[in-house]
Amino acid sequence: MGRDRVIVIGGGVGGYAAALRAARLGAEVILVEREKIGGVCLNKGCIPTKVLLHSASLYKEAQRAAIFGLDTEKLTIDYKRVLARKQTIVARLTSGVESLLRREKVRVVNGTAAFADSKSIKILETGEVLACDKFILATGSVPVKLSIDGSAKVPLLTSDDLLNLETLPESLLIIGGGYIGVELGQFYSRMGVKVSIVEMLDRIIPTEDEEISRALEGALSKEGVSILTKAAVEKIEMAEKDKKVILATPDGKKEITAAQVAQTVGRRPRYLEMNIEAIGLKTARGRIAVNDRMQTNIPHIYAVGDVTGGIMLAHVAMAEATCAVQNALGHNPFPISYRAVPRCIYTSPEVGCVGLTEKKAVEEGGEVQVSRFPLHAVGKALLMEETEGMIKIVAGKKHGEILGVHVIGPHATELIAEAVLAIELESTVEELAHTIHPHPTVSEGMGEAAMMLSGGALHLP
Ligand code: FAD
Repeated sequence: MGRDRVIVIGGGVGGYAAALRAARLGAEVILVEREKIGGVCLNKGCIPTKVLLHSASLYKEAQRAAIFGLDTEKLTIDYKRVLARKQTIVARLTSGVESLLRREKVRVVNGTAAFADSKSIKILETGEVLACDKFILATGSVPVKLSIDGSAKVPLLTSDDLLNLETLPESLLIIGGGYIGVELGQFYSRMGVKVSIVEMLDRIIPTEDEEISRALEGALSKEGVSILTKAAVEKIEMAEKDKKVILATPDGKKEITAAQVAQTVGRRPRYLEMNIEAIGLKTARGRIAVNDRMQTNIPHIYAVGDVTGGIMLAHVAMAEATCAVQNALGHNPFPISYRAVPRCIYTSPEVGCVGLTEKKAVEEGGEVQVSRFPLHAVGKALLMEETEGMIKIVAGKKHGEILGVHVIGPHATELIAEAVLAIELESTVEELAHTIHPHPTVSEGMGEAAMMLSGGALHLP
């Protein structure tokens, strides 16, 4: 039997992971990408935002260096170098992925793919037609653009623009208080920009546990980010050289003027140029419809990542890529599971969450127990002078099964990995409490939060 021929469309994290995995399983792979290998995550998402936030966080740390007995006499921001470093890191990572693809002998075709029929695609720029046995669609997503009264005349920036502003504006209004809005908001605020975040719902990061979201709101407000919730944008217009946004709030109309206005209100799956209607490929609520094997209604076509909607995160796209490839090639096929997907926010304090929020766990009907271990009782947090924050565990009342873990504080995005494994392995709070945590680390708080539901924490009265 000959080798399987696989075409992957889209070279973002979902697509390149699928291409590498398929090649390593012996398939002959073609990867089609219309822009840059690495897609949103490497070029204009996860990586560039975190590079910027890291500079901002070091700047903030250096400002309080005196607490640690250090003198930093002259501390200034060289914004151009901050931006340049972002490009260097992005280039390092994308060229690393390109060289992995070369090593695995994946043929990378630069161009836009559209289905010619269900067994072949056409590259729109060159007219080349490529046929194969299995397809994996990984065409990602694009930012949702609000259509607000006035936005045709006063264009709103997107997250892509916010990653590339050549000069720092005096003020910035961000519409949308999800994770992208708060991360970019904190970055600009720490660069000295007057930042306001406007959110339509009653709190920022509204899908996360309410206590975590309130704590993050408190931390951001404390360092000068102005947050306005329950505020719906009605209109945008020019006000001399600035932009004026008119908002409807429970207290009546409000106006905010800012030099720049951006929208970070979510992303939508992208498949417009793909000619999917012609081959009868089904969508559901604006996304490519797939089953739990990442298979579409056309059995030899699979789809992964943001284009399938659901949880639009890079690590989910990569997990779906493995699932799609192993199912498509019949190599240890398995169904995808979303039970233990970590959700991280790289502000400081960081946020790391997995599983059910307290509210959702209660809504799902079971009786729950909840612990909240404050980080001021953790020695490592104290020596880092980062004692604000907590580790919250939501568990079943009867059997102590861990349903959700929510962390806000230093290293939360790293700490959450332990909780992901605990949920994946269906652990109980007792098992987590008996797990030995290294000392001194912030992770001790995870053990203590579990002990609170299993005999009592050691370092709380
Ligand atoms: P994409 O990365 O969108 O890649 C799709 C690729 O397909 C693109 O390169 C596109 O050019 C190409 N393409 C599209 N159509 C065609 C076609 N017809 N032919 C050929 N090529 C085509 N996620 C996290 O997990 N952690 C984070 O910290 C994080 N931060 C983010 C910050 C920002 C500002 C943004 C915008 C997103 C962030 N995300 C984060 C989300 C993450 O970037 C996405 O979930 C991830 O990129 C999805 O990967 P993908 O492969 O599905 O799609």
